[in-house]
Amino acid sequence: MHDKTLTELAAGLQAGEFSSRELCQAALERIEHLDGELNSFITVTAEQALANADAADRAREAGDAGPLAGLPLALKDIFCTQGVRTSCGSKMLDDFVSPYDATVVEKLRQAGTINLGKTNMDEFAMGSSNENSFYGPVKNPWDLSAVPGGSSGGSAAAVAAGLVPAALGTDTGGSIRQPAAFCGITGLKPTYGRVSRYGMVAYASSLDQGGPMARTAADCALLLETIAGHDVRDSTSVARVVPDYSAELDTSLAGLKIGLPKEYFGDGLDPEVETAVREAIKVYESLGAKVCEVSLPHTHLAIPAYYVIAPAEASSNLSRYDGVRFGHRCEDPTDLEDLYKRTRAEGFGEEVKRRILIGTHTLSEGFFDAYYLKAQQVRRLIRQDFLDAFDEVDVLMGPTAPTPAFDLGAQKDPVSMYLQDIYTIAVNLAGIPGISVPAGFAGKRPVGLQVLAPHFAEAQLLGVAHQFQQATDWHLKRPAFGKEMA
Ligand code: GLN
Repeated sequence: MHDKTLTELAAGLQAGEFSSRELCQAALERIEHLDGELNSFITVTAEQALANADAADRAREAGDAGPLAGLPLALKDIFCTQGVRTSCGSKMLDDFVSPYDATVVEKLRQAGTINLGKTNMDEFAMGSSNENSFYGPVKNPWDLSAVPGGSSGGSAAAVAAGLVPAALGTDTGGSIRQPAAFCGITGLKPTYGRVSRYGMVAYASSLDQGGPMARTAADCALLLETIAGHDVRDSTSVARVVPDYSAELDTSLAGLKIGLPKEYFGDGLDPEVETAVREAIKVYESLGAKVCEVSLPHTHLAIPAYYVIAPAEASSNLSRYDGVRFGHRCEDPTDLEDLYKRTRAEGFGEEVKRRILIGTHTLSEGFFDAYYLKAQQVRRLIRQDFLDAFDEVDVLMGPTAPTPAFDLGAQKDPVSMYLQDIYTIAVNLAGIPGISVPAGFAGKRPVGLQVLAPHFAEAQLLGVAHQFQQATDWHLKRPAFGKEMA
């Protein structure tokens, strides 16, 4: 059962081949046996899941179940879940239990899906390797000595290892797409504003966006149409009709114009990754697409602009963790200042502290114009690069990350870790959607093809990814890890 896609499992439930209880039980057993090694979950909610599975089975018998009812999923531990701990990978929120559900959690529950638990992540979603988690690193099921990517590394590893058929992640600078690439699954970052951020612990509010991580584009379509839409509780969510993404997957690629940004094939790109991506593009050509080179001239400014804007927003968002209202509180504070200082010194990890310091600095008087304002101007130019490119082509393609998954512990220097985000980060600055699709291997480690489209063109993006998956079988490959289990 663990080899199946969400779409196949939905059909199996519908046909009565197995019950939701059987499905969830099997997934929970895999988690129990395999996750000691992977560490992809922070919290597993077995009892609650089985009770909800029984309810989904009863609803189905009564003819009352929607197409997703009874399907097991996992949530990155950044989505607030009523009554279940939401840690955000941080000691600061180690005992935080949200009094409400995030909008996407509510929508998934209304659709009848079963949450099996909360997945591991870099603390406050800051990282590209999942090594910044208070709960320890996650391993890549394709190669246990490699990282799964980050910050949604737990979600990616759990899907890749067949612990769950799909999971939600969040992407502020690549955190859905890069772990999807490293773990050989499909991950979609929607347009900024497509999916409500209400109840998603804030990292950098102008960049954060939740989205699906699954085996196939078709599965991502099913999830996106469930979670997308306007939300009165998130003023940045956009009031725009949510298309029936699943119904639009079968678009023809004949005449599709693909642009290859020349900046995405330059220095620093691993040759095996490049080969896999170029092979994937040939597949598109064979399916009738036309390929040309384009330029995104401000690409080299994306990392510096992002690493000013994201820490600035983070320093402001994370000021709420002061030991007063919720989260960690230091023992016996002598006064208010002592409470703040020790609570924050104890509760936050090293990378989070680094970003709070950077952000506080760039927002301070005398530096604001030189850093923050400048970065916002650069952001505008980066966005314009994409808009200009989409005047010429329908979609852009390139590698999701410059290298395959690297070894655990290999990236010791924060700046070299930030360079991992070179192809993903500009997409968040521009607010456009992007998807990572399995496109081959570099040795044992998967390679992702990134496809980008104009704002709100998720239907096109999913269709373009789906057509590739009809013609290739990279998304069907499974790691040897956990194969022995049913
Ligand atoms: N790696 C990037 C960072 O550390 C992106 C993280 C994300 O998308 N949440 O900020």
